[in-house]
Amino acid sequence: MAKMGTRFQGKVAIVTASTQGIGFSIAERFGLEGASVVISSRKQKNVDEAAEKLRARGIEVLGVVCHVSNAQHRKQLIDNTIQKYGRIDVVVSNAAANPSVEGILETQESVLDKIWEINVKASILILKDAAPHLQKGSSVILISSIAAYQPQASMAMYGVTKTALLGLTKALASEMAPNTRVNCVAPGFVPTHFAGFLTSNEAIRKGIEERTLLSRLGTTADMAAATAFLASDDASYITGETLVVAGGSPSRL
Ligand code: NAP
Repeated sequence: MAKMGTRFQGKVAIVTASTQGIGFSIAERFGLEGASVVISSRKQKNVDEAAEKLRARGIEVLGVVCHVSNAQHRKQLIDNTIQKYGRIDVVVSNAAANPSVEGILETQESVLDKIWEINVKASILILKDAAPHLQKGSSVILISSIAAYQPQASMAMYGVTKTALLGLTKALASEMAPNTRVNCVAPGFVPTHFAGFLTSNEAIRKGIEERTLLSRLGTTADMAAATAFLASDDASYITGETLVVAGGSPSRL
């Protein structure tokens, strides 16, 4: 793939959970637009393979193992970034877990804790570690979901944590202004490992496609383009906002 522009030339972008799916595409997009990218996920093998793929496209990349709910890993992610690049311009908090299809009141407390910890608390703690290094003009993007607006029965607690990210976006935008903008992307359905039901169940996939105005699922590239826009200077007067990237699926006014 050819280089796509220079919006992130000289910038350093950290993307969590970025060895496949939406996170990988976001890292790739930043890299193709000139950023040095720091990718991470739980498994060293996945980190190494993804880093190699990005290098093959001419992208400057650092790969770090980081399970987002591990404090030592989060510290390592930030420390290694600063050691290698000396600055942080963009942080994308993309990691999420959806370990339960049960109703909220049926979900075990330990599972409720895990969903909150990975989907919400870890985003806060990563930003806490990154904050002292964020440059003037820096940008944070939280990855929420269309499920934030109407948590469905099969992913209710997950949806509620994604709703929380909409509020977190507003709160942090206020707290981190004026040096850092904080925005959010709410993806519609994208066939990835995380959304395996989209590829394994034809009827579900069709039903979801029909509920979009554009009659298709989203792609990881769609999500990367929106994230790159919000993180770039093209969005320099936008903060505290959520961009729904869901093909016109019902969300909010
Ligand atoms: P994906 O393709 O399954 O990729 C998940 C990535 O996260 C992998 O690189 C995985 O690598 C890493 N990962 C998983 N748990 C982690 C953890 N605890 N700490 C660090 N890394 C972790 O998932 P995706 O569909 O791109 O989802 C990315 C984000 O988009 C999530 O926030 C999700 O809620 C959101 N989203 C997705 C959809 C959709 O339809 N796909 C819709 C709305 C929102 P390792 O296994 O090596 O850790």
